[in-house]
Amino acid sequence: MTGRTGRPTVPTDPHGATAMKITLDADKCCAAGQCVLIAPDVFDQRDEDGVVVLLDAAPPAEQHAAVREAAAICPAAVIEVQE
Ligand code: SF4
Repeated sequence: MTGRTGRPTVPTDPHGATAMKITLDADKCCAAGQCVLIAPDVFDQRDEDGVVVLLDAAPPAEQHAAVREAAAICPAAVIEVQE
């Protein structure tokens, strides 16, 4: 898709920033909890086994840096970020 300028348009979230979409492969999660420490508004852990729970698959722009960091340091490469 292109905008009026002819340049490709970038998907935006309701806050007007570039959209982010998060997917998890929770089967690989080793319950280290790093993601929860870094981005507690986006990630949580199940009480019973500590496996990651995704609270917000399309977080607002102010969460993006923390989500990128969480994905980068996750020891099991569970978190995939699309922007
Ligand atoms: S940092 Fe990775 S392995 Fe640790 S709880 Fe989060 S998703 Fe699971």
